[in-house]
Amino acid sequence: MSVYSKLYEGKAKILYTTDEPEILLADFKDDATAFNAQKRGNILGKGLINCSISSKLFQQLEVHGIKTHYIDNPAPHQMRVIALRILPLEVVIRNIAAGSLCQQTGLPVGTVLKQPLVEFYYKNDQLGDPLLTSDRLYLLELATPEQVDTITHLAIEINDFLRGFFQRCSITLVDFKLEFGLDSQQQLILADEISPDTCRLWDSDAISDPDSRVLDKDRFRKDLGNVEHAYQEVLQRVLKAVESNK
Ligand code: UDP
Repeated sequence: MSVYSKLYEGKAKILYTTDEPEILLADFKDDATAFNAQKRGNILGKGLINCSISSKLFQQLEVHGIKTHYIDNPAPHQMRVIALRILPLEVVIRNIAAGSLCQQTGLPVGTVLKQPLVEFYYKNDQLGDPLLTSDRLYLLELATPEQVDTITHLAIEINDFLRGFFQRCSITLVDFKLEFGLDSQQQLILADEISPDTCRLWDSDAISDPDSRVLDKDRFRKDLGNVEHAYQEVLQRVLKAVESNK
């Protein structure tokens, strides 16, 4: 496969076109950003780790019947993906209160939600990715009601699956962000990545210690240290869970 030109460079990945128009190459970077890119850094090996974790999770989800953009890995930090028209939505699913939910509602961190909360944010860096109401989502024509309905059902199904998968890794899936895109047949497909950059993952064996339980980007956001070690730990546990499931 020959790689042609750089199509887009995001905060965590570079997308390249390939010689096949329906296929793109995502190259995962070690760059780390937080707080809408106001905080910047580098997490050694992050690109490879996040690409590996995402690839394994997408493969597992495919087996579970969820369509993803994942094709294969030409290199450990690279993923070939289906070219999609990505919807400008960040779909956040929460099982436990943390982050912006606590800041905006006053709910204590760690509150277990009675049922998963699915939220839609406008993927727009200039506006700071604001939380959307349904009316605003339709006002801006970011998706149709049918697409919102399908995405909500998919998000809940993906959450159910991932919660169970991470449980087998002794990891609690607190919350995470998904992105979806449309293929040439206008079919909704799960895209982007699922990694410690986009999930809050707490070590179930250290759940009562607010600092040592953190196995995700909050270690970078809050300067907790041992960021690479936490990401590596997630990868090792994911690989073990996949192996033991074979
Ligand atoms: N998230 C993400 N990208 C974003 C915003 C959020 O991957 O641009 C993830 C984040 O890592 C967390 C979840 O979505 O797992 C919920 O994030 P939250 O709304 O609490 O915002 P934050 O605290 O990250 O500002």
